[in-house]
Amino acid sequence: MMRVAVIGAGIAGVTAAHALASQGHHVTVYERRSSVAAEASFAQLGLVAPSLTGPGPFDGAPPLTERGGRWGLRPEAHLRPGWDTAAWRWLWQARQAVAPSRRAAAHKSLGELARYGQQHLRKVVVGHKLDYERAEGHLVLLSRSSQLSEAQQSLLELKARGIEARVLDPTACRVIEPALPLNANIAGGLYLPNDEVGNCRQFAHLLKEVAERMGVEFRFSTEVIEVMPGERPSLRSITLQSTTAFMSSRHVAAAREAARDAREAYDAVLLCAGVQAAPLLQQLGLRLPLLPVYGYSITASLRDLDRGPRAAVTDAQHGVSIARLGQRVRVAGGIEIGTAAHEHHEARLRPLYQALDRWFPGSAQKNHAQAWKGATPALPDGMPVLGQSDAPGVWLNLGHGTQGWALSCGAARLLADRIAGREPDLPLAAFELRRLR
Ligand SMILES: Cc1cc2nc3c(=O)[nH]c(=O)nc-3n(C[C@H](O)[C@H](O)[C@H](O)COP(=O)(O)OP(=O)(O)OC[C@H]3O[C@@H](n4cnc5c(N)ncnc54)[C@H](O)[C@@H]3O)c2cc1C
Repeated sequence: MMRVAVIGAGIAGVTAAHALASQGHHVTVYERRSSVAAEASFAQLGLVAPSLTGPGPFDGAPPLTERGGRWGLRPEAHLRPGWDTAAWRWLWQARQAVAPSRRAAAHKSLGELARYGQQHLRKVVVGHKLDYERAEGHLVLLSRSSQLSEAQQSLLELKARGIEARVLDPTACRVIEPALPLNANIAGGLYLPNDEVGNCRQFAHLLKEVAERMGVEFRFSTEVIEVMPGERPSLRSITLQSTTAFMSSRHVAAAREAARDAREAYDAVLLCAGVQAAPLLQQLGLRLPLLPVYGYSITASLRDLDRGPRAAVTDAQHGVSIARLGQRVRVAGGIEIGTAAHEHHEARLRPLYQALDRWFPGSAQKNHAQAWKGATPALPDGMPVLGQSDAPGVWLNLGHGTQGWALSCGAARLLADRIAGREPDLPLAAFELRRLR
């Protein structure tokens, strides 16, 4: 049995803690916020869609697309890198990564991880009888005939990847989603019956309870301020004020001083700190091009359950997805680079409301909708970093981008195997840190 510290209780950290505890390890989770899934995993859409990890309109390296050897910006992308050289470098690297030769390898690895992730998510759900808001099926709505022929072409590729898909005419789209309006401009749809949508935050809370019953210790309102690598890596943490997890800089300085000699040693430390991993990575001398890529969501109660979506619907033209979460509907989209976390741009919310009105008019209580801006921790090639870092004893589970929930259970299981010295079910080489050098 090993003693493992997990830093961060977003979906990556909670699933990792559960996977490690399932293998009999003693796990302590450090989280600066007062609950699980309080940052990027909070009000994200909830799509678990291995179909999105291949070529096509939602290829996994936002904000860029590549079609027939030409690259471009996604319609929903807004870039404001200003004088931030790191953001410019990241964009340049992303531009390199959409080259067809490099994307093919990334598609293969990411596709395998996404399928493995979904299998493990289902195993965890069935194994622990987790009951959370979820629905099966994903309809990608296509408004132009050119998109329809692209969807036809992608069928063979999807089939080769083991993903069931059908191209539907407008009538068949309305059988899948009966609330779609008759006068909506639909050329057809790509239906992915095995994709699913679920409430990531609710799942994280349920899995945390399971993990606690397995002996995992969660330390909330506790920030790790230093990780010291080694054969037995150790860390120092401070306790934040529990209500807000924020303190004045004077209090933080005093708490840091008090924690100076309080080290805790482990057999392994797993970093699952999302976009906030940067200071710890810097301290460890690890240079990782991890950039916050922001997205928005709105969540509203359904006025009439029959007028809302049954499961997940994506508006391919506008890059907006709509999902049913129990008695609510959630709409997500937008890609923002170079803005501040607290800076909400109302203009980004407009396309989300417009998509809701276009596809499910009158279905939701929009006046009481909750708007959210989240930071997706992303690497320029759209792939996560999984595996051992250059700092002895420190492992990484970072940079899941727009697929963090979909990949989480798979990444957790692979890492738990590797940390324990077992051969994982899938090779981790494509996700290791060295690919970024
Ligand atoms: C609008 C939007 C829609 C999305 N839709 C989808 C989707 O449909 N499907 C999908 O799969 N993904 C989606 N994503 C992406 C997904 O939400 C993220 O990839 C995922 O939540 C990242 O999880 P994480 O655990 O890595 O990070 P986080 O959830 O951010 O967790 C990291 C945690 O680490 C903690 N932490 C950081 N530093 C420290 C420290 N020093 N000490 C202690 N704690 C620390 C933080 O407080 C935080 O709680 C979406 C994202 C956005 C923004």
